Amino acid sequence: MPSRPTLCQTCALGPSLRFSRFLPPCLILTSKVLTKIIKYFKDSELKQSLAFALLVFALCGSAVIWKLSSEAAPVARTKEVPLLEIVHRHDDPFQQFPESFPLQVAVFWTNPGPDPENPLPLVHSLKEMGIPFFITRDLPEALRHRLVILYPSVDSRTFTQPQADQLARFVQLGGFIFAQNVFWGGLQNLFGFRSFAASRNRHRLIFSGTKDPVTKYLNRPEERETQLGSERFPEIIWSNGYVPAPGAEVLAHFDDGSAALLTNSVGKGKVYLLGLSLLDVVLRNQNNHDYEAQRHYVNAFEPGADVWLLVLRAWYEAYGNDWVRLATIPGGQRSALLLSHDVDWENSFAPGLDFARIEKANQASSTFFIQTKYVDDANSKAFFFAPNVEILQQLKAGGSTVGSHSIIHSRGFNKFELGSGHETYSSYQPRGLGFDTASGATVFGEVRVSKELLDGEIPGQDTTFFRAGHLRVPVSLPEALERSGYQFDSSFTADDVLSNFPFALSRGFGFEEDSEIYEFPVTIEDEESPGFAKRVPQALGVILANAENGAVSVILIHSNESILKAAAEQDLLRQLPPDIAKTDMLTFAEFWRARDRLQWSLSETSVPTEVVLQVKSAESVAGLTFEFQRPIATVSGGAIMSPDKRHLVLPEVAPGYSVSIHINYLR
Ligand SMILES: [Zn+2]
Repeated sequence: MPSRPTLCQTCALGPSLRFSRFLPPCLILTSKVLTKIIKYFKDSELKQSLAFALLVFALCGSAVIWKLSSEAAPVARTKEVPLLEIVHRHDDPFQQFPESFPLQVAVFWTNPGPDPENPLPLVHSLKEMGIPFFITRDLPEALRHRLVILYPSVDSRTFTQPQADQLARFVQLGGFIFAQNVFWGGLQNLFGFRSFAASRNRHRLIFSGTKDPVTKYLNRPEERETQLGSERFPEIIWSNGYVPAPGAEVLAHFDDGSAALLTNSVGKGKVYLLGLSLLDVVLRNQNNHDYEAQRHYVNAFEPGADVWLLVLRAWYEAYGNDWVRLATIPGGQRSALLLSHDVDWENSFAPGLDFARIEKANQASSTFFIQTKYVDDANSKAFFFAPNVEILQQLKAGGSTVGSHSIIHSRGFNKFELGSGHETYSSYQPRGLGFDTASGATVFGEVRVSKELLDGEIPGQDTTFFRAGHLRVPVSLPEALERSGYQFDSSFTADDVLSNFPFALSRGFGFEEDSEIYEFPVTIEDEESPGFAKRVPQALGVILANAENGAVSVILIHSNESILKAAAEQDLLRQLPPDIAKTDMLTFAEFWRARDRLQWSLSETSVPTEVVLQVKSAESVAGLTFEFQRPIATVSGGAIMSPDKRHLVLPEVAPGYSVSIHINYLR
């Protein structure tokens, strides 16, 4: 697992205060008086017995006073958090992703059992890119579509010889295939390779400087060359290095010179062959099981997983006939900057109001992740009470959104037990003991009880967003979050997961199924040296690199002070191009979730230039944007066309309703 530099250094400011807090003032005073009395009686014969009696009296008295004063401390308001059951939704990918319209990419699932490699990595990639697709085991059904993906691999048992001939004929007549890990000699000629060698020690991948359309979006050095794993590991993910046949073109090669991505033109069509699995270069990175493939931890542009999403997008756009794509960003914008603050110190609340004011003045808003610290421990004293809670109420009332940043904000959070799920404010008493140790703490406790408190104390609050303290992530986090009613998480860094697009967190960070939780990894934070105020141009550079790909950037600024940092944030907001939205994390996350679950189709009509876009959402969503290959002349249904005539922004879609939009292309 990747090492994580220390984040949230503000939290380290607490310990200096902790000892005076632990010895109640009344007890300090009583001890001094007691010493004087004992001194007065020091020559008395009665001194020992008297002193003993006084000591007992003083200790009992101070204990009563302490007890009374602690009982007088305000008790927080809470709202019950029901414990939900895990729902396993989609066992059958054929039912979940059925064939419904000609423009869909056909995914031919080559490995359905008995030990299947799940199509989840490909599902993530296509959904994140907004490419329509269906999954099938029926080859003739797949070959009715112009674009076909063979996933996850092709060996000598996958196809019969007649099926191989069908594939070759399909390409000959103008079909396009994208496949990964083809091993079968029977398809060597079609895919353009002579041989291949499997290996676990290829560490780098370099895109060749070709003009092939699938590398259209890979214009930056960080995209032209990626790392598959750290050199610290002699063995990393499996790769298949191909030796190309004459006529095939190498679009990317590994560090040993073998071909990683090949293309071969056959007749009117073309095939692409990748010597890696999206399981290893997309999903493995997203669930943080990679071999430290990231080149940075935070604050840099790291598109190591995104390049494969962008290759698929470019492939679809190059060969799809009159293609249509569901855009990643709402409102026809190019990208979005998602603003957030971590409030994890007693003095971090009041400056939050300054950040909120500056954001409002710059037509932006942000999400505040709150540490609901109600216990004293070795790391800091409690601070989740008035006046801090009143500040939270003001932030929320002023249009900011609020998420949880745990209770004790432990560096050991990633090692906590899951817990029972019945942890509650009245009984949960976690305490940080030292650098990364704690007692009485569980993952459920940190997640659930912080939600109980935020939902109870802030009017109108329903906490659905979580960010772990120090970005330490336990394996049980997706389960604890989804069973506690959360929907979103932001506990990874984008560099660490090598992706700048939000994605569904898989259950237990495995490879089998998604949880209900979506991840929005942190792109830029404020505490890495030399501090955010001195890194605004660098941050802007990363935001612009993501914007080129339609990806988002998440910024985390601790609200421990609002002089330097808020000025720097304002500086950044003012320099943002107008086509990059600046929004709080929750608003964007709710859009992304609805977008990810959207059902849409495009059907032809009897008029050759007219198509109908049909959209259905389970939740209310505004700003859905579709991108079209063909320029549009007119559109119905209240959709707004962009000046380039190739983007449509839909009106707000009501939950459960199906919306039909008639589109007439130019010409
Ligand atoms: Zn923190």
